[in-house]
Amino acid sequence: MSQLHFFFFPLMAHGHMIPTLDMAKLVASRGVKATIITTPLNELVFSRSIERSKHLGIEIDIRLIKFQAVENNLPEGCERLDLIPSPELVNNFFKATVMMQEQFEQLVEECHPNCLVSDMMFHWTTDTAAKFKISRIVFHGTCFFSLCVAESIRHHKPFKNVSSDSESFVVPNLPHQIKLTRTELSPFDLIEEETIIFQIFNEVREANLKSYGVIFNSFYELEPDYVEHYTKFLSRKNWAIGPLSLCNRDIEDKAERGEKSSIREHEVLKWLDSKKPSSIVYVCFGSAANFTTTQMQELAMGLEASGQDFIWVVRTDNEEWMPEGFEERTKEKGLIVRGWAPQVLILDHEAIGAFVTHCGWNSTLEGISAGVPMVTWPLFAEQFFNEKLVTDVLKIGVGVGSVQWREAASEGVKSEAIAKAIKRVMVSEEAEGFRSSAKAYKEMARQAIERGGSSYTGLTTLLQDIGAYSCKSD
Ligand code: UDP
Repeated sequence: MSQLHFFFFPLMAHGHMIPTLDMAKLVASRGVKATIITTPLNELVFSRSIERSKHLGIEIDIRLIKFQAVENNLPEGCERLDLIPSPELVNNFFKATVMMQEQFEQLVEECHPNCLVSDMMFHWTTDTAAKFKISRIVFHGTCFFSLCVAESIRHHKPFKNVSSDSESFVVPNLPHQIKLTRTELSPFDLIEEETIIFQIFNEVREANLKSYGVIFNSFYELEPDYVEHYTKFLSRKNWAIGPLSLCNRDIEDKAERGEKSSIREHEVLKWLDSKKPSSIVYVCFGSAANFTTTQMQELAMGLEASGQDFIWVVRTDNEEWMPEGFEERTKEKGLIVRGWAPQVLILDHEAIGAFVTHCGWNSTLEGISAGVPMVTWPLFAEQFFNEKLVTDVLKIGVGVGSVQWREAASEGVKSEAIAKAIKRVMVSEEAEGFRSSAKAYKEMARQAIERGGSSYTGLTTLLQDIGAYSCKSD
């Protein structure tokens, strides 16, 4: 049979493009032709890494599709989720993604790929795959656990059985007893059936159900009960091939994922080298979160009150949030990175003792792969479910007690709660337990991607399945 060819088409958001690039590298390293489809503005997210891979003999192509931002009342160049200037324009962004279909299909016609690995939000690619008699695989960008929780909530609506937002309910029919409150559910978990957004999500869901299967950036040993549960009760063909970030083995690849880092690798490594093992708290909330000035101040005070050394990645340009004298007082203890940090490089350093994270799935899995316990501070979407996996199932972290962003009227997380959670993970009687459990998952993660490991075999199975599918439809 001739060489397989995969198209990778991620949603334009760092949390989706970064793991997709790793997926393309992984597939290409197994002799498969890999082509990434994106828009002109996002080419740079991929091109430098693709260039480096070329020197290792790994070829990845990139093809561009024009994104009709202005035609959909978005600002020129608004080609990525974090660039949308206001929440009301999110719908316009998704309308513009649907308009990519024609150009995408021209590319499929020209290149004849065997398989489309496309984002869950690109539901129309199921029709494209059917039209060209090829397979579509869905990438959700999250774990088995969170998809199982979301499906149980969608099906059983357990939040209807409680009378207040703060009263907890059990998520039915899961392998563990998982409790949530309404303040931890996203607006999408709570939508009513007659709304337009419900119809859109239904369309996405139906198209995803019709696709050939689902690919996961996770590994079997991390969540075996949920891999089994998903396979048995949600009956979807699936392949777990992660942690994807572990395919980056040299310093440059670990340092430059998504954006160019705002701090030189050697500068951050030198700082970390001067610190004791497991003594630093790394604080980063991913690529999209923006905190209010008050919340930033509370975080600064909480970090200071915890007494721990830290690296804090700050996304905002203004400095209003900085409590008076904070940087001066903490200059021996803390390193503030303004902009984009080399996250995987930092997490992998032995000086890191805890990760204060928003529980985006990539960050969560990167923390797990580095064997670092977590202080969980979810902000939106399925991050609250990822938190429960970390705190209640894996037991490698504790939460600060945050609520969904739509509760912005709430008071936010107070400095006392932040300091308390950090101290619990770093220096309490429980700290050693968190640390040794986290280290055990790190070992399992590394074994999963080695030859013969579960994720290595998962990818082998995927390639065999696509090979067989392609032969059948020829
Ligand atoms: N990231 C990084 N440096 C930063 C911020 C984020 O390298 O300063 C990377 C991080 O390692 C992860 C991705 O960006 O791979 C963020 O994805 P995640 O799912 O954690 O969160 P999102 O940004 O989608 O909310």
